[in-house]
Amino acid sequence: MVARVTVLGSTGSIGQSTLDVLARHPDKYAVHALSAYSRIEVLVAQARATSASVVVVPTDAAAREFRRLWGAGAPLPELRVGSQALADTAGDDQSQIVMAAIVGAAGLPGALAAARAGKRVLLANKEALVAAGSLFMAAVQSSGAELLPIDSEHNAIFQCLPHHGRAGVPTEPSPGVRRLILTASGGPFRERKWSDLAAVTPEQACAHPNWSMGRKISVDSATMLNKGLEVVEAHWLFAMPPERISVVIHPQSVVHSMVEYDDGSVIAQLGQPDMRSPIAYGLGFPDRIASGVGMLDLAAAGRLDFSEPDLAQFPCLRLSFEALRSGQVACIALNAANEIAVEAFLSNKLPYTHIPAVIEKVLVKMQGIQPVAINVIDDVLNLDLEARRYAQQLVSL
Ligand code: NAD
Ligand code: MG
Repeated sequence: MVARVTVLGSTGSIGQSTLDVLARHPDKYAVHALSAYSRIEVLVAQARATSASVVVVPTDAAAREFRRLWGAGAPLPELRVGSQALADTAGDDQSQIVMAAIVGAAGLPGALAAARAGKRVLLANKEALVAAGSLFMAAVQSSGAELLPIDSEHNAIFQCLPHHGRAGVPTEPSPGVRRLILTASGGPFRERKWSDLAAVTPEQACAHPNWSMGRKISVDSATMLNKGLEVVEAHWLFAMPPERISVVIHPQSVVHSMVEYDDGSVIAQLGQPDMRSPIAYGLGFPDRIASGVGMLDLAAAGRLDFSEPDLAQFPCLRLSFEALRSGQVACIALNAANEIAVEAFLSNKLPYTHIPAVIEKVLVKMQGIQPVAINVIDDVLNLDLEARRYAQQLVSL
């Protein structure tokens, strides 16, 4: 049987890698829907190549642009417009698998709708889990959705844990597991002092040594806030307390992450730094399918290095651990403040080294508000908005 797949954020780095893997298996998968926020010309080409039934765009202007570029001839896919249409499409009964590959907290409603609909959710978007971990995991649990982590570290950990062919939601750490060890390349500035980074440009920050990714996650990798988000992500995905999650610098990005067991064994997952491997794993699970990724040649790699991260060198990593220990309001603030600060940095409005200062101020401010219960998605979105407003004031100073 052919499974129908919806790809949210299809024009992005993960979205494109997903379509590449899907195209290798026309006997197994067909595309139901695609979504994009900008770069409508790329979306048009994707919709043609995949014969998608539905495309979702953010505005009427983007829909007009889509129609204009599509031209006459082949029948137009169904065009849906706006964020509600995006969430409705993620949850509709026309697809069995949803790739959640929108960047930022904007990806939350779609990922949540797919989870509520009980589908197989391939979760690349980490910000959704950081902002709304408890709600998202509860939705997966109550609907019986299958959750496959796509972030390479979490996909690696999932592969190294006992899962018995089921992608369910753990409520406590797997028996016998002592610690999760996330690897981090250390990004492009690993060997430079924090104090020397004030004049760093967006191009330098986006030049990741091993992975090719979207611009926001590339900056997050340089600051290591990305690893911080991933620690929070691991906490929710694997029901692991913060003190049993650690980070190790591994510049070659060959070991994607590890699980340490009570008997002293450590199981690692290795491979090329290419997201098509975790994407193919998520699609095919529990089977293995071809991804187009070349085989790993360990002799050619030669050596694998590991070291402790220096928290003075990477203040964003320290702030992430603090936010996780402090609770969900702090995690929402961490993510929202970072999104605003990174956007400002990418548009040359904020120096690179001010990113953690913005995050820290927003964290302090948000911790001052009355503790609030987070029961529904609007609670998350309201806190997210409040943190964004304050971060925006700080970057506009
Ligand atoms: P990207 O910037 O390349 O693509 C983002 C996609 O989301 C695009 O299709 C864009 O049109 C869409 N989008 C952006 N803003 C939107 C909005 N407000 N509403 C709706 N759609 C919107 O990003 P990426 O590198 O593909 O990353 C996607 C997600 O996957 C991120 O959460 C990232 O952290 C995560 N991730 C990426 C990688 C990677 O290798 N690229 C690895 C692990 C995790
Ligand atoms: Mg990752």
